Amino acid sequence: MNETRIDCFPTCHARGASPRENVNRLNAISRRNRKGLYPGQHPPGFPRNESKRRAGIWLLTILALFLLHLPSATATARDRDTAEIKAEAIPCFVYHRFGDSRYPSTNIPLDKFKAHLAYLREKEYTVLTLGQAMSCLRSEKDVPDRAVVLTVDDGYATFLSEAMPLLREYGFQATLFVQTQNVGDSGYLGWDELRRLQAEGIEIGNHSASHAHFLNMKEERRLKRFRNDVQKAQGKFAFKLEEAPDLFSYPFGEYTPGMQEVIRDMGFTAATAQKSGVMHVEGDRYALPRFPMGGPYATLEGFISKANMRPLRVRQEQPKSPVVENNPPTLTLDLEAEAVDLSGLQCFVGGGRDCNLKRDKKDPSRITVTATKKLTQRRTLYTITAPSNNGPRWHWFSHLWVRPKIAE
Ligand SMILES: [Zn+2]
Repeated sequence: MNETRIDCFPTCHARGASPRENVNRLNAISRRNRKGLYPGQHPPGFPRNESKRRAGIWLLTILALFLLHLPSATATARDRDTAEIKAEAIPCFVYHRFGDSRYPSTNIPLDKFKAHLAYLREKEYTVLTLGQAMSCLRSEKDVPDRAVVLTVDDGYATFLSEAMPLLREYGFQATLFVQTQNVGDSGYLGWDELRRLQAEGIEIGNHSASHAHFLNMKEERRLKRFRNDVQKAQGKFAFKLEEAPDLFSYPFGEYTPGMQEVIRDMGFTAATAQKSGVMHVEGDRYALPRFPMGGPYATLEGFISKANMRPLRVRQEQPKSPVVENNPPTLTLDLEAEAVDLSGLQCFVGGGRDCNLKRDKKDPSRITVTATKKLTQRRTLYTITAPSNNGPRWHWFSHLWVRPKIAE
């Protein structure tokens, strides 16, 4: 059958191309999109003088692309009915410090980081920036079969001095989330260094200006402070790097639905949280899961298992907010059950097994999970896993709980 390809979004993965060719291709797309991001979008939260003129041009472009894309959208929906689910998911990792043993809980020793990269090369993974991964997932096709995203939070100096030589050696990219307030401080990267990293293909994301504990504020004040803070950082990025990011990472991974709405409203493409799991086509783009790779989690075995993890897809999650109202909290999930063996469901609370998982008698894909004890940490994850029903892989979903009254 002849297939007419209409590239509405950047095509993410050329069929039959090697991972190296795909990376080169994606880099070229990244460079092209650096200013324009997605069609019709200017850097979020930082209006430019040209906006109105561009808006007219983009409106026409979008209309034309929409008309052109109609037949392929129908085809995509049809394709997805039969497509392998695994081709629509991308594991994402978050690192903080590299080779800095003074901070063991957020650090990864260099030999372990190198082992992660060596595994990715050996298994021919495509390493995408988060922006590229979002393009792939949003276009709902052409997601490389083996792809991961490496993100790094906080802009510590060890990213340049320790991690970059290894990333260069392996030819991999990364997405670096920076809080502008600390840029140039002792132990952190400066603006000149960020510019050099950007020129090398490192994608820079917004990690707020102040890196505050926004969940410690009352909701109304929180949203105002949060918006102003993110806007302030966007202004700084635009001034210092000549572009404002379109990706955001919540400080400490903590968010509320109201904060997600602020980020969406400001025009960001996506935002990352710190709950583990695998990004997928139908997931919430404004609370993307990432597997932490620091301290006890930074083993090679853990990395390999997470790089091969599949998403446990959830149709509905109740509550959506991470803030704990009743302790211990109860989470209700409606699972998409086709790909998994529901009889193998397991739950974990912060890595332990102190939880009860109940399946609804009438609807076995509906489950409730409750910890057997009160949550005592500021942040705790409920994690639910299930084996695949047609292979050795596992599927993973986490819900973040935050108790803002507990100090960091
Ligand atoms: Zn941070």
